[in-house]
Amino acid sequence: MAHVFNCQICGSTFEASRVDAVQCSQACRQSAFRARQAVVSAHNAAAADLLRRQTAALSAGADPVALAAIAREAETLFADV
Ligand SMILES: [Zn+2]
Repeated sequence: MAHVFNCQICGSTFEASRVDAVQCSQACRQSAFRARQAVVSAHNAAAADLLRRQTAALSAGADPVALAAIAREAETLFADV
């Protein structure tokens, strides 16, 4: 039995036999994949930046205020992984 969906990427209506389809075509699946990759890349860049700042704060005498701020940012950054 076919199910009707709205494509997550282009918004067009399409039918699929599976119950969890989200994209209408290979092109839209590719777009979704690239969008996910961009999110992962941004997340990795933010994590690397936090690590650099933590290392700098530790090298500069372990400023507890700076380290606490970095720890809070890390919790936020990794909360949705
Ligand atoms: Zn589409």
